[in-house]
Amino acid sequence: MKFNVFLKPAFYFLTLLSGALMCSAFVSNRTHGSEEELDALLAKMTIEEKIGQMTQLNLDVVCVGEIYNLQEPHRLDMTKLRNALVKWQVGSILNCGGHAYPRKQWLEIIGGIQEVATTETRLKIPVLYGIDAIHGANYVSNATLFPQQLAQAASFNPELTRQATAITAYETRAAGIPWNFSPVLDVARNPLWSRFFETYGEDALMCSRFGEAAIWGYQGKSSAAALDALHVAACMKHFLGYGGMRSGKDRTPAYISDIQLREIYLPSFMKAIQTGALTLMINSGEINGEPVHASKKILTGLLRDELKFEGVAVTDWEDIMKLQLNHRVAATLKEATLQAVDAGIDMCMVPNDFEFPRLLLELVKEGKVSEARLDLSVKRILKLKQKLGILKKANLPALSDYPLFGSQQHMDVARMAASESITLLENRQQTLPFKSQQRILVTGPAAHSMSLLNGAWTRTWQGVDTTFDDQSKNTIYEALSNASPGKITYAQGCSVDSMTNLNRVLELSRSCDVIVACVGENPSTEKPGDINDLELSPTQQQFVKELLKTGKPVVLVLVENRPRIVREIATACSAVVMAYQPGDFGGDALADILYGKVNPSGRLPFTYPQFNHGLIWYDHKYTETFDSKYGNNAFQPQWPFGHGLSYSEVRYADLKISSNTLHPGEKLTISIQLTNASDREVKEPVLLFARDHFASITPSVRQLKDFTKITLAPNSSQTVSFTLDESQLSFIGKEAKPVLEEGDFDVMIGSLKSTFKYLLK
Ligand code: BGC
Repeated sequence: MKFNVFLKPAFYFLTLLSGALMCSAFVSNRTHGSEEELDALLAKMTIEEKIGQMTQLNLDVVCVGEIYNLQEPHRLDMTKLRNALVKWQVGSILNCGGHAYPRKQWLEIIGGIQEVATTETRLKIPVLYGIDAIHGANYVSNATLFPQQLAQAASFNPELTRQATAITAYETRAAGIPWNFSPVLDVARNPLWSRFFETYGEDALMCSRFGEAAIWGYQGKSSAAALDALHVAACMKHFLGYGGMRSGKDRTPAYISDIQLREIYLPSFMKAIQTGALTLMINSGEINGEPVHASKKILTGLLRDELKFEGVAVTDWEDIMKLQLNHRVAATLKEATLQAVDAGIDMCMVPNDFEFPRLLLELVKEGKVSEARLDLSVKRILKLKQKLGILKKANLPALSDYPLFGSQQHMDVARMAASESITLLENRQQTLPFKSQQRILVTGPAAHSMSLLNGAWTRTWQGVDTTFDDQSKNTIYEALSNASPGKITYAQGCSVDSMTNLNRVLELSRSCDVIVACVGENPSTEKPGDINDLELSPTQQQFVKELLKTGKPVVLVLVENRPRIVREIATACSAVVMAYQPGDFGGDALADILYGKVNPSGRLPFTYPQFNHGLIWYDHKYTETFDSKYGNNAFQPQWPFGHGLSYSEVRYADLKISSNTLHPGEKLTISIQLTNASDREVKEPVLLFARDHFASITPSVRQLKDFTKITLAPNSSQTVSFTLDESQLSFIGKEAKPVLEEGDFDVMIGSLKSTFKYLLK
């Protein structure tokens, strides 16, 4: 099979065509109603109906069985459903009941919900259904699963993310769901964090650029007025500062200065708002002692007054309750409800009881929350329903609609995304690519596991229940066997935390030429993914050391949620490949790379640490480079941000700047010549960094300012140009506003550097 970006126009054309011709729910890209219509509807609503629109419940609440323990097969309990929709007038439902459903079951469940909403409630407003479709429509059986966000960022190709999210939107909508709680725009500044893999990495610009691509993919580029039935509302999350917690444990305090907040954590959300993201989810954590769900400063001052966000802000799971129980800023749930509404939430993801609507009604009756305050949120929610084309009709698809669901075309994009993500970190003595006659022993916990390749949010929340694995997809072992029939032997050898059959592996190693050790971690996210130690598990490190003792070359493949420390084994291995969590096609993509069918082109979107306590960002300050001998060697990552190899030698030469001065209003052009000195085609990410020599706020040693990815034909050269203006060079100053001061700046591409002066006059 051949993968290249030229698939793109064909894919797009077919997606649009099939949508236009075959979706009964298709609505063209125009407005679905007027502002006056919304005002008229609002004027008709009772206080209870308004509060109902602000309430979001978990699907479990309206299904047969107990919450978190539904009866199989999951189905609606009509009494519970009527209680929620007719008595409490609830306007939104989320989630699956614990695992993925086939499209048919989704359409029955959502069809049943919409039937009650549109026939039995007074105002007949359909329910807004929301889901976590994090790396594909992961709660819809047989949907196309892509690499996790972190892996996507490693491609340095946001266009692939746009295509992946467009497919995710299509396949989510195919299940009757118009709202997706994605993308994650948190900047991952602590590698211990269980949600590291859910982000676009450590850098603010990367998070902004990939976030923008994801929002375009989900919503379409012209989503301002109305979405068609091929797209979903995106939900940028988790606003704000979630990725900056001090301890690295999920939902624990962050201490972030206003300067850092604006320099690092805010840009991705600002960009998403400019791009037109329709909704936002709030960070469950706290910043400087203030839980974000109770922060008027962040949710109203910053989000509404300053950033002019007009969409819907939804709480995260049980987060009003947590203001009382976990954060302890409110003594009662009623007080917590008041704090959150006062701070600026629009919708409460309650999600398992009716306390929010009950208490909010009391607060309104007591005069503590005004009806005008409710109107503000309810209008935003109704407007969202209107934009999605579900204000007056549920607009559910038929099972025969969306013919490209799970299609080969969609799978090709997922495989291409994995191929461009996987990152070759070391390749000593040209161990890779393999030659077809080599006998390979493949081993380790990730060698024959679909769940490790996919990670969390894969048909279940934590992604660990292997009964939901798609057996038609290839594990690493299966993919290698397909690539080199008869040459591949497998034995697991060890799981993540215990040896299983080491002796068998050692015995088999005698008759092989190379060992591929696939190590990593079991899928996890949120609280269940908290760890106390960033080291790769001791068992796996011991296992790899035993393999190394055989004297055979060992290729280390890392399949992990976050960069687990591998210092003791990585240097002794002949090659190291970072696979991240590459999804259902990760095994195939990895085999393509190991056998040289695909020239690797991924780059690390984060700093891979070497030491447990050497967690220094790539854009660190100068003082962080001073070591104990007063030298400049303190920054010692295992592999730096942006690192990644290919099978080609690519030479960087002739870095040029259009002028050695820059004045306000001007732009600089920076160009470089790249030469592919090999006879293979190569895709090369090109990264432009800059640094300010001196500034009133301590400057970083370097910051990413722009990037692109080019394709270089064998033995060819190409000139790459970037433009740079003041806004890209400014930093957040003492007044927490962007400033730019006169002085010298370096621009850096590869190992080349050039200097210019910024002058005010
Ligand atoms: C997570 C969110 C997710 C929500 C709904 C929360 O626990 O933090 O990212 O969207 O659940 O499933």
